[in-house]
Amino acid sequence: MTETLALGERATIPILTAEEVSSRAAAALQHARARLEAIERLPLDAVTAESVLDAWDDAATVMEDAFGPISLLNSVHPEASVRDTADRALIDESVFMTEVFQKEALFERVRRIAPRTAAQKQLQKDLIESFEDSGVALPPEKRERFRAISERLTELAQEFAKNIRENKTVLHFTADECKGLPQSYLDRVPKDEAGSIVVGFDYPDYIPFMMNSQSEDARKRYYIANTNRGTPRNLEILNEIVALRREIADLYDVPSYAHYVTKRRMVENPETVVRFLEEVRSAVTDAELRDLDELRQLKQGKIERWDMLYYRERLREQRYAVDQEELRKFFPTVPTLHWMLDITQRLYGVRFEVASVPVWHEDVIYLDVRDAENGDLIGGIYLDLYPRTDKYKHAAAWPVRGVSRRAGRKPISALVTNFDRVGLTHSEVETLLHEFGHVLHGVLSHTEYNMHSGTSVERDFVEAPSQMYEEWGSRMESLSLIRAHCPTCPQIDESLVTRIRASKKFGTGIDYGRQLLYASFDMALSSEHPGECLEVWKSMEAATPMGYIEGTAFPGTFEHIASGYAAGYYGYMWAKVIALDLISAFGKDLMNHETGRRFRDMILSRGSEEPARDLVERFLGRPVSSEAFFAEIRGEN
Ligand SMILES: [Zn+2]
Repeated sequence: MTETLALGERATIPILTAEEVSSRAAAALQHARARLEAIERLPLDAVTAESVLDAWDDAATVMEDAFGPISLLNSVHPEASVRDTADRALIDESVFMTEVFQKEALFERVRRIAPRTAAQKQLQKDLIESFEDSGVALPPEKRERFRAISERLTELAQEFAKNIRENKTVLHFTADECKGLPQSYLDRVPKDEAGSIVVGFDYPDYIPFMMNSQSEDARKRYYIANTNRGTPRNLEILNEIVALRREIADLYDVPSYAHYVTKRRMVENPETVVRFLEEVRSAVTDAELRDLDELRQLKQGKIERWDMLYYRERLREQRYAVDQEELRKFFPTVPTLHWMLDITQRLYGVRFEVASVPVWHEDVIYLDVRDAENGDLIGGIYLDLYPRTDKYKHAAAWPVRGVSRRAGRKPISALVTNFDRVGLTHSEVETLLHEFGHVLHGVLSHTEYNMHSGTSVERDFVEAPSQMYEEWGSRMESLSLIRAHCPTCPQIDESLVTRIRASKKFGTGIDYGRQLLYASFDMALSSEHPGECLEVWKSMEAATPMGYIEGTAFPGTFEHIASGYAAGYYGYMWAKVIALDLISAFGKDLMNHETGRRFRDMILSRGSEEPARDLVERFLGRPVSSEAFFAEIRGEN
């Protein structure tokens, strides 16, 4: 990768101060309001697709220019004042959007237009649905109540996330409790005066400890603390969120919040979700018991939840000679990043170039994305890879800026992770690929309208391209290319790849069992009679083979359902069905750039211009098949 000079055409993320967050947000709202008011003033008999939709697209990009960066900085900016001001600005944004989609004059004009293109037709449909889902057709008092609920839900989701992100709890573990931990880990983490290690809940602290500490008591203490990251406040928040969502269902006179949500998803209704989860249940039950039994034999005792990572790791070592800590030598962090960029370039016909632009922290890297054929600038990517205080704790991609072909707008996505600086485990390699799959969906989309860009697809499809990309971390034809980026690394050969694949296969019963529990819990909280969240969780977890652990409170950490994944967590498995089917299109050679190019053109570049099912089936040339998915659960493929 070569450094290039900043070009005038590049779009970058402004690194805002707290004051600028407020002023930009206010200016954007004012500016967007003016654009939309212009639409409201159009004479009803003179509206055209262009006069309404183009103005709408302009308003959407004005909003995104302010709130895309604000949403990202809200989770990653080192200064509390910026993050807190961003919280307030994002509430204002959400209130504004609800108000917009409750305006009858706008609704009427969107309904009147006669679309001329497929993209216009889809956008009109999407907008009409947003109006309907925001209560435009409700009587005034219900409409008002919907607005108040929406604002409160945004506030609650923010507080929930903040309690996790800014949790300052640390645990101390003595040298005895650290037996089994890799020396590199012990060298890296801070110690107290007594010589005990001091660790928090960042993944690089938690995961290696749980995988390797020989002390069952220490693992148990860490496990229970980790599930309590959000207690007690987040449990109260989640209960309030669930009650408000239940009230939304009442406003719309539908049986449950799940009904309200799923009508806009691939599944179309909760019954399809329930049926799908039942199918998963019947495939996963035996597989999970079989996996647990193998671990029980290894431990020669009952497997507890804090044993899971530890004994799976021992089993991997014994049976497959795969040691996650050892694998870090094969996947040093920076060369692995360069490798991923390399395979992406080959597959999708793009070129990445590092460039110097303003960033929110010195660790952050920026890349220009160019088309390999003509060198045109496509968009930009920010990478924020390492943990730090008060930063978002998981791995995720932010679609900071969406494309608009109509407006000549260039997309920007940001990748945020919490990796070890030295090397990645194999599952971290998969995480990197997964999130980069989302990033690519954002920056390689090439839609006419901003509202259709990249990851704006149905929520139960959005994980498919990212889950698909994980596979590139487990195949010889892609992994063999890593050597070029790290000549001194140990060589990845067929035998290692075979062992990695075999070791991945172990535990799919346990993993899908857990996913099924999460998805079922989410659907229960979105059902007609949701109940108190911790009580519901206790009874559901108690019904699983490992049972409920007294003193744990997982729901307080379940950020997905506190925010946009409500009645949508099933989407991870629903999309996985599609992801595994998509992989089959690449056949025996994942590095087949013709298929890659077709994937870019037919899926990534299309965003939500058409329903996901249509895009996928056109790419595959046949209907989606769930065969590969159920074979994976049963440990067959
Ligand atoms: Zn994802």
